[in-house]
Amino acid sequence: MVLKGNPVSPGAALGHVHVYRSFSPEASESFIEKNAAGSEKKRYEETREKAAAEIQDICNSLKNDDPKKTNIFSAHLDILNDPAAYEEITERIETGLCAGDWAIWNIYTKYINMLLKTEDAVIRERYVDFEDVRNRILRIWHGFPESNLSSLTAPVIVAAKDLLPSDTATIDRRNVLAIITETGGSTSHSAIIARSYGIPAILGIPNLLDKIKHGAFAAVDAFTGEVFTEPDNETITLLSAKRERSLKEAAETKTFQKIEPITADGYRMEIGLNIGSANDEELAGAEYTDFAGLFRTEFLFMGRSTLPCEEEQFAAYRKVLEIFGKKPVYLRTLDIGGDKTLSCLELPKEDNPFLGKRALRLCFGNPGIFKTQLRAALRASVFGNLHLMLPMVGSIDDIRHAKAIIEEARAELEAEGARNNWEYKLGIMIEVPSIALIADIAAAEIDFASIGTNDLCQYLCAADRMNPEVSGYYQSFHPAMFRLIGETAAHFNRAGKPLSVCGEMGGNPLAAAVLTGLGIRKLSMGPASIAPVKRMLSHLSVKNAEEIADKVKGFCTAAEVENYLEREPLLKLPEIH
Ligand code: PEP
Ligand code: MG
Repeated sequence: MVLKGNPVSPGAALGHVHVYRSFSPEASESFIEKNAAGSEKKRYEETREKAAAEIQDICNSLKNDDPKKTNIFSAHLDILNDPAAYEEITERIETGLCAGDWAIWNIYTKYINMLLKTEDAVIRERYVDFEDVRNRILRIWHGFPESNLSSLTAPVIVAAKDLLPSDTATIDRRNVLAIITETGGSTSHSAIIARSYGIPAILGIPNLLDKIKHGAFAAVDAFTGEVFTEPDNETITLLSAKRERSLKEAAETKTFQKIEPITADGYRMEIGLNIGSANDEELAGAEYTDFAGLFRTEFLFMGRSTLPCEEEQFAAYRKVLEIFGKKPVYLRTLDIGGDKTLSCLELPKEDNPFLGKRALRLCFGNPGIFKTQLRAALRASVFGNLHLMLPMVGSIDDIRHAKAIIEEARAELEAEGARNNWEYKLGIMIEVPSIALIADIAAAEIDFASIGTNDLCQYLCAADRMNPEVSGYYQSFHPAMFRLIGETAAHFNRAGKPLSVCGEMGGNPLAAAVLTGLGIRKLSMGPASIAPVKRMLSHLSVKNAEEIADKVKGFCTAAEVENYLEREPLLKLPEIH
């Protein structure tokens, strides 16, 4: 069978399918008859043994190549085997006549709440491990298979309805051959993560989970958007060859990763790094980039039941600022809503979440959360070159409103006697057409801006970036996109204010060429795009890029633009030897 979807991260893969369904336990108060206590306790013990075996398997598989993660899972074994928890749970079953799952939920949740009240941030953070162990036991209790993308034991093709940003942020990418999902467009967050890790991905495959079985063998062609279930020998041979070719090409392109981004006629471009999880591997990119052009801070808020406190955020921001040193870090304030939800914060139910209380609007509605983040960022600013960046700005009112809250945060810190030599620049993301169209006015109000092409396209083309039904209407290469970006760049260049692009277009070599021709000199992207973009820029002169951009602005349709760019001889790269 051949399944079709939207190829969002190129590559090919062959392997067994791992169907991923994330488990979130729901507890309901329930009790048992007295004579059932013995069997309930036995079931708890068996569940505990199965959980121990699962954790042990993960430890064994991680031992050689990821000792840090092994420590996490060894700690989970300790939590699971803790005699006090065992006694309390069995006591609840035997004396309180609680159903086993209700007793497990109660006792572990009690520990979690105790930890959450602890002053010491390091101890407090351990609640996540208790939550993990509790959820594992309850999942096994309810008979659901293991589903954790951070602990895959063999390379697999991950199939899911959707992957939440919290799933992809913790993904064990060495064991993910490809990602295939039912929902998600080319700029959904799953797509962004897949591309930034160089994992082949096809999203938006209708009814995927009804058509594919856990463990089945499949071949994924993420160049064409096809998934072949139980492929024949001919397809296997074809896909293996494609895979080898693309891996070789990627390895060769990687040699461009560390070069200076200088165009063929000598212009020094600036290449930025988009940061999504701030782990050491991602931050290694600081060495060969000029700035962190988009620090998505949402990862700190995801996959947890409480909001991160000021100290925790301060530590994370300080780490990134210190690593980048004098290089600017565009720390984007919380951008939640749309496809990004939080378990630690209930978001309003809305018919059109992408047009609703998202990002800055949500922060305005929750000034406490916003201020905590701003306080942490201001305090961290002394360790590097902080550029605070506001997402989803639609008007000058938004900028002024945010400035007032930043002032409040600053005044609060000062009143508390905190160190106050904070220096930072304030900027905005340009992703709503209403602000792009008054870029001249906006430029006067702020220090810098970065164009978020993912949302700009969604709002300009009126096409939900997550909805595969309208992916054909979501046209990043629409001539209107290039015209609007060109106008915006002209205003910022005239005002002498830095403007970059940090949406997915910045990491696409063909789009990067056009953006350069439109006057953009700073492009920020995920780690995997750096080498291909530097390679393109090193072969292209600004003069030629300007000619190309002029032609692009004159086309009628996105398809015409794409056809032209794919055929334009100036954009053909020489073979690497
Ligand atoms: C964008 O919209 O282009 C952007 C970079 O932000 P995000 O993808 O996180 O919404
Ligand atoms: Mg955006």
